[in-house]
Amino acid sequence: MDVADKLKILADAAKYDVSCASSGSERKGRLGAVGSAAASGICHSWTADGRCVSLLKLLYTNACRYDCTYCINRRSNDIPRAAFTPEEVAKLTMDFYRRNYIEGLFLSSAVAVSPDHTMERLIRVAEMLRHREHFNGYIHMKIIPGTDPDLVRRLGYLVDRVSANIEFATEEDLRLLAPDKQAQGIRSVMLSVRDEGMALLPALRSPTPAPRFVPAGQSTQMIVGAGRSNDRDILTRAESLYRQVQLKRVYYSAYVPVNPLALPGGIAPAAPLLREHRVYQAD
Ligand code: SF4
Repeated sequence: MDVADKLKILADAAKYDVSCASSGSERKGRLGAVGSAAASGICHSWTADGRCVSLLKLLYTNACRYDCTYCINRRSNDIPRAAFTPEEVAKLTMDFYRRNYIEGLFLSSAVAVSPDHTMERLIRVAEMLRHREHFNGYIHMKIIPGTDPDLVRRLGYLVDRVSANIEFATEEDLRLLAPDKQAQGIRSVMLSVRDEGMALLPALRSPTPAPRFVPAGQSTQMIVGAGRSNDRDILTRAESLYRQVQLKRVYYSAYVPVNPLALPGGIAPAAPLLREHRVYQAD
């Protein structure tokens, strides 16, 4: 499969993730480097299906070993599968940037082989962009829940923003709809990001420049209307995440019924788009 075919599959597969606004990171252009990151305003254009148009928004792979009920990429679906190499993603990013199509990269992934295996590929992409291509533009990458804290830290020093999707407001919904995901694995990667950021606070007061660790912070995404959680559950969970792991932003994503089978447990999707708007307003 050539890169153009992979791009078609993996750009389309990424469109359901809405947690990719790029505000909050500022880095000026510098001699010998390519690109810059603006404090705000470089990524606020959205298409109707949630695609953010000024970032190159991709999945590294859609070949997932998990079987989340709500997801087009789940392993039980019979769909075309593809995976980039780190070299391909780095080259695509630079080619798109130089043509002025994009201002940065948003890279997510299905869980291939294991969380650590997948995370290592994403880190390789970031290393190639930052160290080999001297790409100084905006990078947002997903952290795969359950990833080793050392890998989370390595990634955080390379990119502007990270996000791990909490998916649902309650563990009951997570168990029902994403049975391979562990609430503890999601929480632990979020805490790794928070703790590393806090450990660097004293260095910010030092006269020598502190290393930059996820300067645009971390965000997450919750699906609205697929589980049993009501709006209060969702907002209560969001509030506790803002306080406990210092999230910059919780994104809400109305459930899209991409799979032919009904949701388990007799759940009927409840006005997901209306509720998405409502929880955004309340948030
Ligand atoms: S882990 Fe779940 S939500 Fe993520 S790509 Fe795989 S099946 Fe989809």
